[in-house]
Amino acid sequence: MDLHATAEAPSSPQLKDRHDIPDHFKWNLAHIFADWREWQAAYDELETKIAGYAALQGTLNQGALHVLATMKLQDEIGQLTYKVWYFASLRYDEDQRDNQINAKRQQVQILFAKLNQASAWFNPELLRIPLPTIQRWLNENDELAVYRFALEDLYRLQEHVLDDKGERLLSLSSRFSSSPNDSYSALSTADVCYPTVTLPSGGEVTLTYGQYRAILATHRNQADRAMAFTEYHELYASNINTYAALYHGVLQRDWFHSQARDYRTTLDAVLHGNNIPPAVVENLIETTKAGTVPLRRYHRLRKRVLGLDTYHVYDTTIPLVDFDRKYAYENVLEWLPASVERLGRDYQAQMQEGLAGGWIDVYENQGKRSGAYSAPVYGVHPYMLLNYNDTLDAVFTLAHEMGHSMHTLLSNAHQPFVYSAYTIFVAEVASTLSEALFLEYMLARATDEREKIVLLQHAIDGIVSTFYTQVMFADFELQAHRLVESDRPVTADALADIYFSLVKAYHGDAVDYDDLSRVTWARIPHFFSTPYYVYQYATCFASSAQLMKQLTTGSAAERSTAIERYLSLLKAGGSDHPMTLLQHAGVDLSKPEPVRAVVDQLDDLVTQLETAIDHLKPRSM
Ligand SMILES: [Zn+2]
Repeated sequence: MDLHATAEAPSSPQLKDRHDIPDHFKWNLAHIFADWREWQAAYDELETKIAGYAALQGTLNQGALHVLATMKLQDEIGQLTYKVWYFASLRYDEDQRDNQINAKRQQVQILFAKLNQASAWFNPELLRIPLPTIQRWLNENDELAVYRFALEDLYRLQEHVLDDKGERLLSLSSRFSSSPNDSYSALSTADVCYPTVTLPSGGEVTLTYGQYRAILATHRNQADRAMAFTEYHELYASNINTYAALYHGVLQRDWFHSQARDYRTTLDAVLHGNNIPPAVVENLIETTKAGTVPLRRYHRLRKRVLGLDTYHVYDTTIPLVDFDRKYAYENVLEWLPASVERLGRDYQAQMQEGLAGGWIDVYENQGKRSGAYSAPVYGVHPYMLLNYNDTLDAVFTLAHEMGHSMHTLLSNAHQPFVYSAYTIFVAEVASTLSEALFLEYMLARATDEREKIVLLQHAIDGIVSTFYTQVMFADFELQAHRLVESDRPVTADALADIYFSLVKAYHGDAVDYDDLSRVTWARIPHFFSTPYYVYQYATCFASSAQLMKQLTTGSAAERSTAIERYLSLLKAGGSDHPMTLLQHAGVDLSKPEPVRAVVDQLDDLVTQLETAIDHLKPRSM
């Protein structure tokens, strides 16, 4: 079995100059504005409208028509904002070395700050009008009725807003509220001194986070991975009491804000914005913890295939097989629309139009922004930035971003502007479902067992990192916040105990544990920068797993209803609270079913992986 040949990091080819890349591989920003002159005219128009908006202050209580005029002007400003911002921002991302364009981009940011000031009067002035009065106006005026959900939601959010004096006091705390996270960044990034080590297999390396990850993903020698893990985590272990004190600051800040605004818990406070019941997070955590059997099966399988005597957390990312197939962009242009055949001809046709129509900036060039994204340019079409490099990861990244873009396209086409944007709570549903459909398509057409194994590992690792790990993180955050909510001490040991017991609860006897895993929590920047955020990746993933199940199983009639329901979700944009939108699509996140769909999906993928590995053995042994 030649599964364990040395993996090589891909060599980076010479970067091209943007001018040397043919136009049909670049996005066409002339769809937004023909040139900078047109952009400047729109910028000036935006500035005029912002001044006009400020002048409306004091008019709202004069009746429905005045509220309507304000809402319409808000829409006009919003629509223009998309175009003015993205034209500058996308041009900047083409080559970030261009100072002139960077200056224009900053010019828009300054205008946004003006916009914030010019519109700050709106919420307080509206909320001084009693809700029954607004509701009467909404009933009397059809044009205003469009804004019902948006306006009523402001009143719902008002429940936990304090009086002027209270709000002023809270706003004064904002400067030091960011202090624990600022200190965390300084300690973990700015002031850190990365160790330079000599690996057991030879070669000296400075262990930045990127290098650490690269060693775990490419070094076939387990001793190299073990050393990288130990040395990298010692960085955190040696400052662990400081990290614990900083995290204690995060927890106390969250609890202070929650109590000041009269929420029962920190979780209630963070979920109120999107109107998510806390039971969703509790259910997510409990059902996932009960569904770790396939996760452990996967790790036991890895240990066997990798031929390891002991299997550690640093052994969880190395590829099972070496496989270096390249995927030409031209091929993907055919495969991607074919993979969404289930969603109907219209959906396919719109995707094809996007792939051919100047939406995508495909290849890397000198100065181009790294990574990938989908930019929702309202009134034009979505744009996608890629750094396509013919790898399997790049192919799935395109499938992912295309999912976002189709969501944007359908939402913009079917919603009034005010509801065209969707929240993060539903955003990753379309992207992960797009990836799942693409995986299904690629697995069906793969003839090489190695390619199948690579595809399956890609999908499984995706579930582990975007689902299981994120739920485990959410569990850690919830338990840590509950320490301060119930006046219990927060120490490095207390945090390590919570984290380590979670790692063990998830992995059971499938992993051999290292004491240094007790400090891993200190390495997760999300805990410090955006508490209670990561669970949303997991709820999106669970929603998309259940939708995938509904789209692909059951009778033909059931499947076609499921497709309609899914497309309605995409068309619904941000027209209601995310839980309600998902319920209409057939997903109830307060029930265990969506999480169980992920567990079943993982179980099925691990079984397929076992089969593929068994098929591979005789030939290569
Ligand atoms: Zn995404």
